[in-house]
Amino acid sequence: MTSKQIAADVLTKTSIKKTGFTQTRSCKNCGHVDTAELSKREAAFEELRNNQLSWHTPCSQCGSKKSARISNPSIVYDVSIMDEWGINKDLHFFAQDEEIIIAELENLEWILHGLKNDNNYLYFKKYTLLEALCILLYDFTYEDEDFSDEEEQVRKENAAIVLPELQKRKFQIKNIGNRMLDYVKEVVFPQIGI
Ligand SMILES: [Zn+2]
Repeated sequence: MTSKQIAADVLTKTSIKKTGFTQTRSCKNCGHVDTAELSKREAAFEELRNNQLSWHTPCSQCGSKKSARISNPSIVYDVSIMDEWGINKDLHFFAQDEEIIIAELENLEWILHGLKNDNNYLYFKKYTLLEALCILLYDFTYEDEDFSDEEEQVRKENAAIVLPELQKRKFQIKNIGNRMLDYVKEVVFPQIGI
């Protein structure tokens, strides 16, 4: 490694440490890995992530537009990111299956933040959050014999955290029933009396 390469390497590592939002693209043709440093906001929204490295970005080494892999940094949800998502129809965390990907217990506080009545979120963004809430309960309550007793215990505890939040929003959830995935509805709706 030349000193120039070492310097570049140190610089890359330093910047990764600084932002923590590193996107990589591996070239299918030559295997070269391109990296891009994203801001928190760029990391959060798919439309902005795609402006950096996408499946069709030419490789900086060989120019090939064929990608083997794109790796995106995790999204850090916070008030500013959520509130921008809530009012901007052109920004998505994920363009496809957004409600399924948002549906993680660690995102519950942000789902509930977005569902507050006193914000100006677009109605379909709120629908996405309601769907995510239902999918969360589904994940913790659908029946599967493959779960161990220990896993079932954790699922039960998690379901107990989520269920009251759905009960509070029973009528809103009922209203968007036609958007909801059938297999989710079958498991979730009886639990909240719909
Ligand atoms: Zn290449």
